[in-house]
Amino acid sequence: MKLKKQKRNQKRNAVKPGMVYHVPQLTTIVKTGRGYLKKKCSKCGEVKSLEDFCKKRAAKDGHAPWCVDCIKEDQKKVQNTETGFLKKRYYDIIARCRVENRKCYFTLDQFLAAFEKHKSIYGMKSAWGPGVDHLEQHLPITRTHEGNGQRGKKGVAKGTKRIASNLSPDRLDSNRGYTLQNLIFIRSDENTRKHSSSYEDCKIQIRLHEERFIKMKPY
Ligand SMILES: [Zn+2]
Repeated sequence: MKLKKQKRNQKRNAVKPGMVYHVPQLTTIVKTGRGYLKKKCSKCGEVKSLEDFCKKRAAKDGHAPWCVDCIKEDQKKVQNTETGFLKKRYYDIIARCRVENRKCYFTLDQFLAAFEKHKSIYGMKSAWGPGVDHLEQHLPITRTHEGNGQRGKKGVAKGTKRIASNLSPDRLDSNRGYTLQNLIFIRSDENTRKHSSSYEDCKIQIRLHEERFIKMKPY
């Protein structure tokens, strides 16, 4: 039943030649067919369905000037620069702090400076490893941003693809807050593996590990 209605609507709203015209007060919106609205993207110039534009209340026609694809493309470009990538990570931390009702004790500039310091020690390698004398055992970090094409609730291009080797700022001790002292730059896969282990958790893990594999005689 629903499908039939959908099909009928599709037929009714189909673009018919010669029916394209501009709505005078909304110059950017093009009306094609019966009740079927389209809009010209001011970036790529393509005339697309209104669903391909984010809703924007402040805009005259209620939609963003760029289509979702162009916004996504632009976000990808910005977030693939080092500052763009780090900014996104910083605001993710701020968002997380808000959810967890924590305080972030560093500013964006301090965060960027902390990464500069990291680079002066480790280069583009993770802090996770035996240390500067054995940098060859530290894995390289990347900062490739890829959206997964998923759309948010309001038609916004959202979602970031998880890339295992990507830079992931982490708290060294998850029992402590977001301070510069507690901030480390590691890889996404290392962060996932480490998850929310605290210093106490690590001590327990080491104790059990030594009990089983060092103190205990092999079977
Ligand atoms: Zn576009």
